[in-house]
Amino acid sequence: MKIQTKITLLFFCMSAIGLILLNASIFYFVSQFNFEDFFDRLDARVNLAAQTNIYPDKNSSAYEEVRARYLEKLEEEKDYIIKINPENNKFKKPLPLPQSFYKAILDNGRARYNEENHFYVGATFSTSFGKYIVIVAASDPYGFQELQELKRVLIISFVISLILTYIAGAVLSHYTIQPVRNITRRVKSIKANNLHSRLDELKGRDEMSELVSTFNNMLTRLETAFETQNNFISNASHELRTPLTIITSETELLLSGQQLDASTTHSVKTILSEAEKLQHILTSLLGLAQSGFDGKKQNWQQIRVDELVLNVADSVKKIDPNRVIDIDFSELPDDEAYLYTEGNVNLLQLAISNIVMNGCKYSNNQPVKIQARFRDNLIMVIVTDRGIGIPEKDQQHIFEPFFRASNTGKFEGYGIGLPLTLNIIRLHKGSIGIRSEVEKGTEIQIILPALNRIATSS
Ligand code: ADP
Repeated sequence: MKIQTKITLLFFCMSAIGLILLNASIFYFVSQFNFEDFFDRLDARVNLAAQTNIYPDKNSSAYEEVRARYLEKLEEEKDYIIKINPENNKFKKPLPLPQSFYKAILDNGRARYNEENHFYVGATFSTSFGKYIVIVAASDPYGFQELQELKRVLIISFVISLILTYIAGAVLSHYTIQPVRNITRRVKSIKANNLHSRLDELKGRDEMSELVSTFNNMLTRLETAFETQNNFISNASHELRTPLTIITSETELLLSGQQLDASTTHSVKTILSEAEKLQHILTSLLGLAQSGFDGKKQNWQQIRVDELVLNVADSVKKIDPNRVIDIDFSELPDDEAYLYTEGNVNLLQLAISNIVMNGCKYSNNQPVKIQARFRDNLIMVIVTDRGIGIPEKDQQHIFEPFFRASNTGKFEGYGIGLPLTLNIIRLHKGSIGIRSEVEKGTEIQIILPALNRIATSS
């Protein structure tokens, strides 16, 4: 769940609890006030009922008159006068009310009880004729109606407040999370090739500005580390290249000129082939440094896919002439305008030759097919071999630097070819697809955007 949603819900739940407590206490206190008021009215009537019924004297009629004149007749108002048996303190219950009510009257001398809007007040009175219980009962339909009305108003205002607090919560969380959203958007745009970018420092000294400056510091450290690594790789590759080129040209000279015996020729050819391999590794490392960290469109040019494939096949055969490469251009369009992509020719050649050389290597030099296609405004180069395949569980890792699948066993390798290839293809805004089955073979698709697009009518 997103933090914004969490804040909204938290705010909503806390407000809802607050509102419930507030409304419940309003309802409780108003109803208590209503009850107290009505009980007070009944209290006065209990005293008057006692005066008129159990203290019969000359004033009785005056009390009755006061009651009739000044005390409004309540709804269902009724008096009950009960004599208590002095021997056993028992009496006849006039109403089916709880025993606790009667007990409270006897124990405390006065008690109150209500069932919904029916109210009862009872009290004991002692006279020279004995002890009496006087109970006055009445109902309060108006007070009850008022409470029902209050309940309705409280429920409606509760629902409206809930809706308003949800909206307020959503607005609040939106504004609270906005700086985080901005940071995320900026961070997403920072890649290995624009590590020099920094987040805009925020004003103030709150947690967000601390986060931004921590992130900027981390980027500075990352950039330094990347640059150091990059410089090391490209310097080392450059430095090693010159002696290697000399070795290659000297051995070629040796092979072309003198009449060497068979075993010397074999040894010199091995030196040449290994030197070519080493040159390829160095080119890969240099390419990795360029493609992974630089990202500047160095030597960007229009590249014809068929020429690219033919060059790859040549360079692969140069390292080992025994390799068989079948080239299939049958699915390329006749119009050569659609054969072009844009990029760095050396890097693309390196990327594709890595895949082709893997195909040859992992199939023990069985024929490898390179097919070029133009489809949906994309240029595809598909390399298929009938080699050892890649186990399914390893397929997701083969683009990780230095990873080698579990079935590579006797095959030599370093695990840098495919990561480099992926870097290069991504640099060209392309993608790589893979389909492989163990002991059957592997098909790797390199997909690149075509320079010229066929306009599609919608
Ligand atoms: P390596 O130098 O080991 O070949 P790569 O980066 O070129 O390094 O390839 C990574 C791993 O992917 C290889 O070790 C291998 O396990 C697997 N792989 C790549 N291409 C193929 C292929 N055509 N057939 C079988 N396995 C392959």
